Amino acid sequence: MVPRVTFSFQIKRFLRESEGWIEQKWLEMSYKISQRPTLEHTPAYYKAKAKKMIRERLVHFNLHYQFDYNRVFFRNQKTRWGSCSSKRNLNFNWRLVLAPLDILDYVVVHELCHLEQMNHSKAFWNLVAEQAPDYKKRRKWLKENQHLLSMG
Ligand SMILES: [Zn+2]
Repeated sequence: MVPRVTFSFQIKRFLRESEGWIEQKWLEMSYKISQRPTLEHTPAYYKAKAKKMIRERLVHFNLHYQFDYNRVFFRNQKTRWGSCSSKRNLNFNWRLVLAPLDILDYVVVHELCHLEQMNHSKAFWNLVAEQAPDYKKRRKWLKENQHLLSMG
C-alpha cells in the first residue's frame, strides 16, 4: 500500500519543482536571446524588414479583432515600442524586428487593442489576452530585455 501522505507530499514537490522547470524552459526556448543580436545588415535592411513583418502581423491579428485603423507609421524611439493615436493611426518602433516574434506580436496586439480601448483597463487586457494569452510574460520580457534591441 502506498502511504498516502508521502504520496501526496511527493506529488506536490514534483509539481512545485516542475513548475519552475517549465517556467525556465519556456524562457529558454521562447527567447533564446541572452545578448544583443548580432547585426549582419544595415539599419535600412532591418527597417524594411520590420515594415513588412509588422504590416503582415497587423493584418493577421486584425482578422480576429476587425478594428478600423488609418495609417501605420514606423519610428525609432528609444523606449517606446508602439502607440496608437486618437486619429486611429498606429506607430511602431521598427527595432521590434530584432525581438523574438512573440514580442513583436505582443506589441502589435497591444496597439491594435487600443483602437477599441484607449486605456489600460481590465477590458483592454482582456482584449489583448484574446490573441496573446501569455501577454504578462511577453510584457515582462520586453521590459527586462529592451536594451538588447538597440541599433548601437
Ligand atoms: Zn498601451
